[in-house]
Amino acid sequence: MERFRMELESRSKNEEFARVVAAVFISRLDPTLEELEDVKTSVSEAVTNAVIHGYQGEAGTIQVEMEIEGSQVLIQVRDTGVGIRDVKRAMEPMYTTDKTGERSGMGFSFMEAFMDDVQVLSELGKGTTVIMKKTIGR
Ligand code: ATP
Ligand code: MG
Repeated sequence: MERFRMELESRSKNEEFARVVAAVFISRLDPTLEELEDVKTSVSEAVTNAVIHGYQGEAGTIQVEMEIEGSQVLIQVRDTGVGIRDVKRAMEPMYTTDKTGERSGMGFSFMEAFMDDVQVLSELGKGTTVIMKKTIGR
Protein backbone atom coordinates (compact mmCIF):
# COMPACT_ATOMS: atom_id res chain seq x y z
CA MET A 1 0.00 0.00 0.00
CA GLU A 2 1.20 3.48 -0.80
CA ARG A 3 -0.03 6.62 0.83
CA PHE A 4 0.43 10.31 0.27
CA ARG A 5 -0.92 13.21 2.26
CA MET A 6 -0.88 16.92 1.71
CA GLU A 7 -2.35 20.01 3.22
CA LEU A 8 -3.54 22.92 1.15
CA GLU A 9 -4.50 26.39 2.16
CA SER A 10 -8.03 27.19 1.15
CA ARG A 11 -7.43 29.20 -2.00
CA SER A 12 -8.94 28.59 -5.41
CA LYS A 13 -5.53 28.42 -7.06
CA ASN A 14 -4.45 25.50 -4.89
CA GLU A 15 -6.96 23.28 -6.66
CA GLU A 16 -4.38 23.04 -9.45
CA PHE A 17 -1.78 21.50 -7.11
CA ALA A 18 -4.20 18.90 -5.82
CA ARG A 19 -5.10 17.97 -9.37
CA VAL A 20 -1.54 17.66 -10.59
CA VAL A 21 -0.34 15.74 -7.53
CA ALA A 22 -3.25 13.31 -7.89
CA ALA A 23 -2.23 12.73 -11.50
CA VAL A 24 1.38 12.07 -10.52
CA PHE A 25 0.30 9.79 -7.70
CA ILE A 26 -1.93 7.55 -9.82
CA SER A 27 0.46 7.52 -12.77
CA ARG A 28 2.21 4.55 -11.12
CA LEU A 29 -0.94 2.54 -11.87
CA ASP A 30 -0.41 3.24 -15.56
CA PRO A 31 -3.84 4.83 -16.11
CA THR A 32 -5.35 5.63 -19.48
CA LEU A 33 -5.67 9.31 -20.34
CA GLU A 34 -9.36 9.05 -19.62
CA GLU A 35 -8.80 7.57 -16.17
CA LEU A 36 -6.28 10.29 -15.46
CA GLU A 37 -8.74 12.99 -16.46
CA ASP A 38 -11.51 11.36 -14.41
CA VAL A 39 -9.42 11.43 -11.23
CA LYS A 40 -8.06 14.92 -11.84
CA THR A 41 -11.52 16.33 -12.45
CA SER A 42 -12.96 14.64 -9.37
CA VAL A 43 -10.19 15.92 -7.10
CA SER A 44 -10.58 19.35 -8.60
CA GLU A 45 -14.33 19.40 -7.92
CA ALA A 46 -13.90 18.23 -4.33
CA VAL A 47 -11.16 20.76 -3.53
CA THR A 48 -13.07 23.58 -5.21
CA ASN A 49 -16.10 22.71 -3.10
CA ALA A 50 -14.00 22.85 0.06
CA VAL A 51 -12.67 26.30 -0.87
CA ILE A 52 -15.93 27.81 -2.05
CA HIS A 53 -18.59 26.13 0.06
CA GLY A 54 -16.67 24.70 3.00
CA TYR A 55 -14.63 27.77 3.87
CA GLN A 56 -16.65 30.31 1.88
CA GLY A 57 -13.60 32.36 1.04
CA GLU A 58 -12.29 32.35 4.62
CA ALA A 59 -8.90 30.91 5.57
CA GLY A 60 -8.80 27.19 6.24
CA THR A 61 -6.90 24.00 5.63
CA ILE A 62 -7.82 21.27 3.18
CA GLN A 63 -6.37 17.81 3.69
CA VAL A 64 -5.94 15.59 0.69
CA GLU A 65 -5.05 11.97 1.31
CA MET A 66 -4.35 9.44 -1.42
CA GLU A 67 -3.84 5.74 -1.14
CA ILE A 68 -3.12 3.02 -3.64
CA GLU A 69 -4.01 -0.51 -2.75
CA GLY A 70 -3.54 -2.99 -5.57
CA SER A 71 -5.13 -1.33 -8.59
CA GLN A 72 -7.48 0.84 -6.56
CA VAL A 73 -6.92 4.45 -5.69
CA LEU A 74 -8.65 6.00 -2.70
CA ILE A 75 -8.74 9.76 -2.36
CA GLN A 76 -10.03 11.72 0.61
CA VAL A 77 -10.60 15.46 0.57
CA ARG A 78 -11.36 16.93 3.97
CA ASP A 79 -12.25 20.39 5.20
CA THR A 80 -13.26 21.68 8.61
CA GLY A 81 -15.59 24.29 7.21
CA VAL A 82 -19.32 24.87 7.52
CA GLY A 83 -20.47 21.34 6.69
CA ILE A 84 -23.54 20.20 4.76
CA ARG A 85 -27.00 20.07 6.27
CA ASP A 86 -28.45 17.47 3.91
CA VAL A 87 -25.82 15.44 2.07
CA LYS A 88 -28.30 13.38 0.05
CA ARG A 89 -29.87 16.53 -1.30
CA ALA A 90 -26.53 18.23 -1.92
CA MET A 91 -25.48 15.31 -4.10
CA GLU A 92 -28.52 15.54 -6.38
CA PRO A 93 -27.72 16.74 -9.90
CA MET A 94 -28.17 20.49 -10.31
CA TYR A 95 -28.60 21.13 -6.60
CA THR A 96 -26.59 24.16 -5.57
CA THR A 97 -26.72 26.69 -2.77
CA ASP A 98 -24.87 29.19 -4.95
CA LYS A 99 -26.78 32.41 -5.44
CA THR A 100 -24.49 34.01 -8.01
CA GLY A 101 -25.55 31.79 -10.90
CA GLU A 102 -21.91 30.80 -11.50
CA ARG A 103 -22.31 27.22 -10.25
CA SER A 104 -24.36 24.53 -11.87
CA GLY A 105 -24.63 22.07 -9.00
CA MET A 106 -22.90 19.32 -10.95
CA GLY A 107 -19.70 18.80 -8.92
CA PHE A 108 -20.88 15.77 -6.97
CA SER A 109 -22.53 14.35 -10.09
CA PHE A 110 -19.22 14.53 -11.94
CA MET A 111 -17.40 12.85 -9.06
CA GLU A 112 -19.99 10.07 -9.05
CA ALA A 113 -19.78 9.67 -12.81
CA PHE A 114 -15.99 9.61 -12.95
CA MET A 115 -15.18 7.56 -9.86
CA ASP A 116 -16.43 4.07 -8.91
CA ASP A 117 -17.62 5.15 -5.49
CA VAL A 118 -18.16 8.48 -3.75
CA GLN A 119 -19.06 8.90 -0.09
CA VAL A 120 -19.64 12.18 1.65
CA LEU A 121 -19.46 12.51 5.41
CA SER A 122 -20.44 15.86 6.78
CA GLU A 123 -21.56 17.55 9.93
CA LEU A 124 -22.86 21.09 10.20
CA GLY A 125 -20.26 23.38 11.72
CA LYS A 126 -17.64 20.62 11.73
CA GLY A 127 -16.75 20.06 8.12
CA THR A 128 -16.92 17.68 5.21
CA THR A 129 -14.98 14.65 4.00
CA VAL A 130 -15.33 13.33 0.48
CA ILE A 131 -14.08 9.77 -0.03
CA MET A 132 -13.63 8.60 -3.60
CA LYS A 133 -12.47 5.27 -4.97
CA LYS A 134 -11.57 4.08 -8.41
CA THR A 135 -10.01 0.95 -9.82
CA ILE A 136 -7.51 1.79 -12.53
CA GLY A 137 -6.80 -0.33 -15.58
CA ARG A 138 -9.73 -2.69 -15.41
P1 ATP B 1 -20.57 23.19 -9.36
O1 ATP B 1 -19.77 22.12 -8.66
O2 ATP B 1 -21.30 22.66 -10.55
O3 ATP B 1 -19.77 24.41 -9.64
P2 ATP B 1 -21.84 23.29 -6.80
O4 ATP B 1 -20.49 23.34 -6.19
O5 ATP B 1 -22.91 24.12 -6.17
O6 ATP B 1 -21.74 23.66 -8.34
P3 ATP B 1 -21.80 20.49 -6.11
O7 ATP B 1 -20.33 20.46 -6.21
O8 ATP B 1 -22.55 19.31 -6.64
O9 ATP B 1 -22.38 21.77 -6.85
O10 ATP B 1 -22.20 20.71 -4.60
C1 ATP B 1 -23.60 20.83 -4.26
C2 ATP B 1 -23.80 21.65 -2.99
O11 ATP B 1 -23.27 20.93 -1.88
C3 ATP B 1 -23.09 22.98 -2.97
O12 ATP B 1 -23.84 24.00 -3.62
C4 ATP B 1 -22.95 23.23 -1.47
O13 ATP B 1 -24.15 23.73 -0.93
C5 ATP B 1 -22.75 21.83 -0.92
N1 ATP B 1 -21.32 21.50 -0.69
C6 ATP B 1 -20.51 20.78 -1.50
N2 ATP B 1 -19.30 20.62 -0.98
C7 ATP B 1 -19.32 21.25 0.22
C8 ATP B 1 -18.34 21.45 1.26
N3 ATP B 1 -17.10 20.96 1.18
N4 ATP B 1 -18.73 22.14 2.37
C9 ATP B 1 -19.97 22.67 2.46
N5 ATP B 1 -20.93 22.52 1.51
C10 ATP B 1 -20.61 21.83 0.40
MG1 MG C 1 -18.97 22.05 -6.76
